Amino acid sequence: MTAPVINGKQVSEEIRGNIRKEVESLAGKGFQPGLAVVLVGEDPASQVYVRNKEKACHDLGFYSEVHRLPASTTQGELLGLVDKLNRQSNIHGILVQLPLPGHIEEKAVIDAIAVEKDVDGFHPVNVGNLVIGDDSLLPCTPAGVIELIKRTGLEMSGKHAVVIGRSNIVGKPVSLLLQRENATVTMCHSRTANMKELTKQADILVVAIGRANFVDATYVKPGAVVIDVGMNRLDNGKLAGDVDFESVKEVSGPITPVPGGVGPMTITMLMQNTLIAAKRLQGLA
Ligand code: NAP
Repeated sequence: MTAPVINGKQVSEEIRGNIRKEVESLAGKGFQPGLAVVLVGEDPASQVYVRNKEKACHDLGFYSEVHRLPASTTQGELLGLVDKLNRQSNIHGILVQLPLPGHIEEKAVIDAIAVEKDVDGFHPVNVGNLVIGDDSLLPCTPAGVIELIKRTGLEMSGKHAVVIGRSNIVGKPVSLLLQRENATVTMCHSRTANMKELTKQADILVVAIGRANFVDATYVKPGAVVIDVGMNRLDNGKLAGDVDFESVKEVSGPITPVPGGVGPMTITMLMQNTLIAAKRLQGLA
C-alpha cells in the first residue's frame, strides 16, 4: 500500500495562519515584531532565500529590513551592522544569510548576534541551551522536522529514531530534539558501518545528507515515518531529496516529498522564532 504523504506546505500554511492572527492581535496593542535579514554578496540561491524571507514578513505583517551588502564588505563592517541591529528596538530577530564570502569568519558573525535575537538558533548559547534542554530559540529546519513528525500523530516517546547526517545545522539538532521527545536516537554519518542494519530498525528515519535519492526502500522498515531534509539540484534543474520517494513510499509509513515537505517549514519556523523573540523582548511572553 502506498504511504500517506506529509504535506509540508499545508502544515506550514496552518502555522502561518496562527502567526498572522497573533501578529494582528499584537498590532492592536501597537506592537509589531521585526526581522532583519543581512545578505552579503550575490549568491543566487541566497538571493532567493532572502527574497522568500522578505515576502514571508510582508505576508504575515512583520516589520522587515533587508540589508544587501556587496561581496567586498569587510568583517568589521558586517560586525558593525550586527551591533547596530542588536541595539535597534524595532528589530527582534536577526538573520545573517549563510554562506558568507570566504574572507569573513562565519563563527565571529554568529557569535556577535544577540542571543535573544538569534532566530536561526545557531548562536553557541542557543545551541548549548538546546543540548542541556533549557528554553532556547530552536534552529528552524530541525524544529520543522519535529513539527512534521508530530503532525503524523506518531507518539515519538520510546520509538527508535535514526538520523542520517550529523551537521551542526540539521542532523545534530534534529537528534537532540528527538531525544527531547523521548525517542531513542541513533546517528549515522559517512563513516557508519552497516548503515542499512540500523536504518531498517528505525520507526522514524530522518535523512539529511545532501545526496540525491540516496535512501531507497531497502533502507526502510515497513511503516516507518520518513522525513527527507535533502534539497539537491539535479542536472535537469529539478529538485530532488535524499530519499528515493517513489520506491520508499511503497514500504514506509507517512513520508515527506521534495519539494513540498521540510522545505516550506524552514521559513515558517523562522517567522515563529521571530514572533517568540519579539514577545520575549517586549515582555509579552
Ligand atoms: P552537510 O553539512 O553537508 O552534512 C551532510 C552530512 O551527511 C554529514 O554529517 C555527512 O557525514 C553525512 N553524509 C554524507 N554522505 C553520507 C553517506 N553516503 N552516508 C551517510 N552519511 C552521509 O549537509 P547539511 O547542511 O546537513 O544538509 C543536508 C541536506 O539537507 C542538503 O541536501 C541540504 O541542501 C538540505 N537542507 C535543507 C534544508 C531545508 O530547509 N529543507 C535546510 C538545510 C539543509 P560526515 O559528517 O561523516 O561527513
